[in-house]
Amino acid sequence: MSTSDTAADFGEHAARIELARCLDVCLDCRRCVDLCGVFSEAIDLVGSLGHAESGLLTPLEQDRILSLCSHCDQCRDDCPHRPGVGEAAVDLPAAVEGVAAAVHRSGRTGWRSAFVVRALASDGAMRWARRFRGPLNRLLRGREGGVSRRALSMLIGVTSDRPVPRIADQSFTDWFSLREPAIAAVAPSVLVVPTCLIDQFAPEIGQATVTTLEGCGVRCVPSGVICCGGGLLESGQVDRFLRVAETNLALLSEGDCADPIVVLQPGCAEVLRSDYPREFGQRAAAVASRVRGAFEHLDARSSMEAPGDGASLPDVVGVISSPRAAATGEEDLLIARLEGRGVRVVRIPSGPVGESSAALLSTRDTAESAPGPAEVADDVPLVGLSVLVNGALERRLGRAVEPAQNLLPALFPAVADP
Ligand code: SF4
Ligand code: SF4
Repeated sequence: MSTSDTAADFGEHAARIELARCLDVCLDCRRCVDLCGVFSEAIDLVGSLGHAESGLLTPLEQDRILSLCSHCDQCRDDCPHRPGVGEAAVDLPAAVEGVAAAVHRSGRTGWRSAFVVRALASDGAMRWARRFRGPLNRLLRGREGGVSRRALSMLIGVTSDRPVPRIADQSFTDWFSLREPAIAAVAPSVLVVPTCLIDQFAPEIGQATVTTLEGCGVRCVPSGVICCGGGLLESGQVDRFLRVAETNLALLSEGDCADPIVVLQPGCAEVLRSDYPREFGQRAAAVASRVRGAFEHLDARSSMEAPGDGASLPDVVGVISSPRAAATGEEDLLIARLEGRGVRVVRIPSGPVGESSAALLSTRDTAESAPGPAEVADDVPLVGLSVLVNGALERRLGRAVEPAQNLLPALFPAVADP
C-alpha cells in the first residue's frame, strides 16, 4: 500500500488503532528494540500502564512514541511479521506515517508547525527567510524559553525549548554557483544534492565535502535538487511530498543523465532510495540506483592504503551511531575504514534524538542526544553522520563533531593531480 493510499484510507482514529496494533506485535517480538528510541519508549509507556496493551495509550502518548521515529526503515527490513511475509502484516513506519498524515489532515498540527517543514522544502520560502535572516537569527539566538524564542515559536512554530540552527549568511547553493569550477570537465562527475539543512543552515559541511570530493578527483555538478521532501512526508504532508518528489525525479533524470547522485545527508539519501521508489515505482528506482552518500562514494573510489604524506588520524574515535546513518550502511563503512587505518572505534548510541526536519519543532531530545562523559573521554574525537544530531551535540559539547570537517580530509587526502 502506498503512503497516499494510507493517507486516503485512514481517519485519525483508524490510523491510531493500526499503530497500536503494530506496536502490540512489536512489543511481543522485540527484535528491533535496539534500533531506535521508538521501541524503548513504547515499552516504557505501555509498561507504566500495568497492562501490556498499546491500545490503552492516549493520543498524546502515541505522539510521544512516533515523534522518535526518524523513518529510517530499518525495522521494515527483515521483519518476520511484515506484509506479505507474516500474518500480522506489521509495517510500523507506514503506521507512523498514517497517523502523521491523518493528524495533518485533521488540522490539529496547526499551520505553524506545518509551516516550518514546508518552508524548508521551498526554495522561495527559504530565499525570503534569508533576506530577513538578521532579525530571524537574533530571535533564534535568544535564551531557550525566553521571550524572543517564545515569540518566534508563536509566529512560526519553531520550538522555544531547545537550541536550533541559525540561517547561514550564504547558502551552499549560492556558494556553489559563484565559485570557479575546481576540476577539469573531463573528470568523472557526480550530481550533488546538498539537502535543505546543509544548504540553508550548515553550508560549511557541504563546502568541506565538495572540497574533499574534488581533491579525490570527482567533479561536483549541481543537481538542481536541494530538498528531498522527507520532512513533508514525516509531518504528514503527503500531497506536498509527492509534488516535491515528482519535481526532483524530473531534475535528476534530465537528459538521461547516468552520473551518480551524491546526497550530503544519509537520511535524505535514504528517502530517495526507498520512499521515492515506493511512491513512483520503476522511474524512481532508476534514479535510486544512482544515489550514494558522500562517504560511500569516497569510500568506493579510494584505496585503503595510508597516504604517503602521513596525514594523521587519531588513535581512538567515538562514532555517534544514528538509525538513519546505520540504515544506509554508511556508518559501517566509516567504521570499517577507520579500523582499516588502525583507529580504534567506540560506537556510541545517539540517544533518542529526532533526526528529521520535524525535530526543529520538537521540544525534547537535545539534552538527551549527547553521550555521557562515562562513555567517552573528553579528548576522544567524536564523529557522526547525522547533521541534526551533530548540530545538537556540537551546541551541547562545544566541540566539532562533523566528520566532513574534522575527519574526511585525513581519511581521503587530496591526490596530487586531480
Ligand atoms: S518491526 Fe517487526 S521485527 Fe521489528 S519489533 Fe516490530 S514486529 Fe518485530
Ligand atoms: S526510527 Fe527507523 S527503526 Fe525506528 S520505528 Fe522508525 S523506521 Fe523503524
